[in-house]
Amino acid sequence: MGRFFRAVKKGFESMGESPAGDRFLVSGKAVSCAHCAHDHFVEGRALLNTAGLSFFNLDWANRSAATLTCTSCGRIEWFLADPEEA
Ligand SMILES: [Zn+2]
Repeated sequence: MGRFFRAVKKGFESMGESPAGDRFLVSGKAVSCAHCAHDHFVEGRALLNTAGLSFFNLDWANRSAATLTCTSCGRIEWFLADPEEA
């Protein structure tokens, strides 16, 4: 058993890429994960479907959304507003 756990631990250490993430503010409020309440995220961008945008009359949204991926559980939060790094 001990050997198995050492091997698993070594596997995690060798990944080494797990990002710590940053804290973000949207509309002046700190973003926290709706699933696990963690407060560190990795920011990304996603293009929105143009037909959908026209339907929802969201052309002002510049056709892209910000995504914040929780570094604890992996939940993705979506924002049309640009998150600020806290
Ligand atoms: Zn989370």
